[in-house]
Amino acid sequence: MRERGEEQSMAVPEQTREVTMDKITSLAKRRGFVFQSSEIYGGQSGAWDYGPLGIELKNRIQRFWWKEMTQLHDNIVGLDAAILMHPRVWEASGHVENFTDPLVDCKKCKMRFRADQIPEENLVSKTCPECGGELTDTRKFNLMFKTNIGPVDDGSGLIYLRPETAQGIYVNYKNIVQSNRMKIPFGIAQVGKAFRNEIVTKNFIFRTCEFEQMEMQFFVKPGSDVEWFNYWREQRWNYYKKLGVNMNKLRWHQHGPGELAHYAKDAYDIEYEFPMGFKELEGVHNRSDYDLSRHQQYSGKDLQYIDQDNNNERFVPFIIETSAGLTRQLLMLLCDAYEEQKVADKGNDDDYRTVMHFHPIVAPVTVAVLPLMKKDGLAELAQEIRGELKEDYATDYDQAGAIGRRYRRQDEIGTPFCVTIDYQTKEDGTVTVRDRDSMEQVRVPRANLSDFIKTKIKAYKRQA
Ligand code: ATP
Repeated sequence: MRERGEEQSMAVPEQTREVTMDKITSLAKRRGFVFQSSEIYGGQSGAWDYGPLGIELKNRIQRFWWKEMTQLHDNIVGLDAAILMHPRVWEASGHVENFTDPLVDCKKCKMRFRADQIPEENLVSKTCPECGGELTDTRKFNLMFKTNIGPVDDGSGLIYLRPETAQGIYVNYKNIVQSNRMKIPFGIAQVGKAFRNEIVTKNFIFRTCEFEQMEMQFFVKPGSDVEWFNYWREQRWNYYKKLGVNMNKLRWHQHGPGELAHYAKDAYDIEYEFPMGFKELEGVHNRSDYDLSRHQQYSGKDLQYIDQDNNNERFVPFIIETSAGLTRQLLMLLCDAYEEQKVADKGNDDDYRTVMHFHPIVAPVTVAVLPLMKKDGLAELAQEIRGELKEDYATDYDQAGAIGRRYRRQDEIGTPFCVTIDYQTKEDGTVTVRDRDSMEQVRVPRANLSDFIKTKIKAYKRQA
């Protein structure tokens, strides 16, 4: 009982310490969220592996997005297209010609840079920002990974790993209109892997060569595109509110004339203030009728929509795209949730607890069940209670060490509820539920536990 008393007396004025990418990377590795790919061989740059807690978090973000897009919007359906697509797709989309980064190499130290990411004076004087050596001329570098399909490797089987999921949606648009009798306006949602041969892959999982996207393409009648574009901007902003993100760290960035893709009519990014500054999280784009017109032209197939409610009027739909990175959103949530919060005043590191304020809907573990002692039947009772909760929630069980330390371990992975089983549980069937954010504890009858947690999740609001 002593340790729980300690926890309660820790209410001192709150102060927090700075969040850095090093701290996020280290916690992610220490607690099994994200590991470097092929680490025992020295690591593979641009690729990362999601550990036991990382995959849980990623799956939950994906489910949250999927529900938001498909279940909560009557006119959006899902798709899972193949990663390998006909190479003509990428000619039609413009990726073969235009999906390039401007690159320069240092002749001395052999470092490679994106020309748009080094200081202007280095580019003009052609000097390497790292070693002062001579830089090559700027050249275009296509970001698509090429591979070969089929038994002969003579170039005839050239195929690309898709650099975005969107094209899989465009080429299936007609199939979906016909098979599912979709009427415009409607959307198609997809989550899946994308691959880009990124040259600069620093900042942990922010920019990687293999990543996942969550994209939704919304097909509308030309002329109604501006209205739908505004609608989707609002919807996507509200999504982050629902996800419990600190909204002070989000902002809109409208693409200026120099930034706007040649096909786009208007484009905004939602940016998040990562430890390295504001960076793109998701794009909301008005892509005009570019995509379907190009696929119509390259495939020779009629991709016009026939509006049966409007005298069979024919038109090529405009597309409003919402394009989010799943793995980038996971990084955003790790940064956003992270807090080193002052909870005591002893003048040492124990003054602080590291707590991840994940929304309970995405937290990798929802409930941890902790017997106060292993003995006197408390462990068995705790296992029984965990068994009752398992059907509804992702649970964890921990009986090792002082209860205060066990709470800290759960705080560090963002478990919103800790259920403690003590001697009183044996007497009156109540348990203690400890709230991660406020650290408050309440006694709840065992029979009401599942409903109590459900109500708390529904009512969850992020503390400022
Ligand atoms: P950036 O300017 O950061 O290269 P982009 O504008 O090329 O991104 P889009 O093609 O619009 O990005 O992709 C949509 C989303 O996919 C981005 O907002 C981002 O969340 C995610 N994304 C794009 N490239 C990567 C990458 N290399 N690694 C991780 N996520 C990515």
